[in-house]
Amino acid sequence: MSEQPIKVDILIAGGGIAGLATALGLARGGRRSHVLERAPEFGEVGAGIQLAPNALAALDSLGVIDKVLKDAVHPERKVYIDAVTGETIGTIDLGPAFVERYGYPYVVAHRVDLHAALLEGCRESGLVDLENDQEVVSAVNQPDGTVLVTTASGQQYLADAVVGADGVRSNLRKSIVDDELVPSKYVAYRGTVPIELVGEDVTSSPAVLCWLGPNMHLIQYPLREGRIYNNVAVFKSDTYSPDHENWGTPEELDARFAVCCETVRNAGKYLSRDIRWPMYDREPAETFVDDRVALIGDAAHAMLQYLAQGGAQSLDDSIAMADALLSDEDEASAFQAYQDKRLTHVGNIQRLARVAGELFHIEGIGRELRNFSFKDHQPDDYANLDWMFMPLAKAPAERSYPV
Ligand SMILES: Cc1cc2nc3c(=O)[nH]c(=O)nc-3n(C[C@H](O)[C@H](O)[C@H](O)COP(=O)(O)OP(=O)(O)OC[C@H]3O[C@@H](n4cnc5c(N)ncnc54)[C@H](O)[C@@H]3O)c2cc1C
Repeated sequence: MSEQPIKVDILIAGGGIAGLATALGLARGGRRSHVLERAPEFGEVGAGIQLAPNALAALDSLGVIDKVLKDAVHPERKVYIDAVTGETIGTIDLGPAFVERYGYPYVVAHRVDLHAALLEGCRESGLVDLENDQEVVSAVNQPDGTVLVTTASGQQYLADAVVGADGVRSNLRKSIVDDELVPSKYVAYRGTVPIELVGEDVTSSPAVLCWLGPNMHLIQYPLREGRIYNNVAVFKSDTYSPDHENWGTPEELDARFAVCCETVRNAGKYLSRDIRWPMYDREPAETFVDDRVALIGDAAHAMLQYLAQGGAQSLDDSIAMADALLSDEDEASAFQAYQDKRLTHVGNIQRLARVAGELFHIEGIGRELRNFSFKDHQPDDYANLDWMFMPLAKAPAERSYPV
């Protein structure tokens, strides 16, 4: 450990999607950054992620889209199905009309592949210093315009500016926003299995399947060119307590899924039962910035995952953040410009994600009304998606995607 604070240019706390994408965006503009990651290695969990066109546009402008698309699956449609009856409620067509409208497809990728593409991009740039085993505990603006960062190991850094990309339980958020995580009482179990274990043909016409049921849902899609099948089961726990972590057990999962149709019940065997993800979000914040410290990604706007936009918005943040820092020499005013672009937009997505959760999980007559009203939706009617999915930059004319 260095006794003196280590001098760095931009310090980024957290090496997840948001942190690495910001570092890569800065590097592509010639600016050096230093990423501190709490974990002993840079990496991601072994699960899938849906990447909407706005996410792919961001990856394109970061120069890593081809690495991500290499093993990604391009589903032909996203289908909402009643998890109890097995009846199709509504469909979003993700074929040529969709790609034409947004300039990019909607794909599903392995998180490990997405993270590896960003990490490789950072390493290849030669402008990103990556350091593990450093949990950032505070970042304090100094009178001379620098920021003093302290990690749990006691190491200190003096940075020109600090980007807090330290996730849903962000340490850096504590000194910028006075709030707490909001528990949803829902918990997720995930599982990826070799495609041979899945009895049905899920690859010849790949789709994202969203099974919606009372206080539960299940998402399924193929990954890595159809070699594995991704499953995410989410349900409301009746035993939630803020005082212990024993709520949302596998037994509760089985009980919640018992009312569902056979395909959904069967998916229970694809899930890893030893790791659970309790779901939290936050109220939209009134600011992401304190002078030369700014929040990004889940640290700024943790949202429920029901719109599959948390990662996509983190990538959009990173583009806005890198653009702002590259075009303004004063980091404090660059952070304000970043915030002006992002605060209202992501706040609206946080709010809509909660509403989507209500619709996914509604019971009784509400469930019937939901199913009935979804039926009017045309598969190629994308009007309600534009404000989230429309990329800031259209695809280069020469690029074409398999449809
Ligand atoms: C079940 C589920 C399904 C989802 N599905 C989708 C989807 O389909 N599409 C989509 O776009 N989004 C999805 N999301 C949301 C998406 O995963 C997140 O929004 C995204 O991972 C946020 O990225 P991040 O970099 O901000 O945070 P994280 O991914 O949490 O990364 C934070 C990083 O910072 C590190 N860290 C934490 N604290 C510190 C510290 N103090 N100091 C240093 N390092 C620290 C962590 O180890 C981690 O590496 C889903 C989320 C869940 C839970």
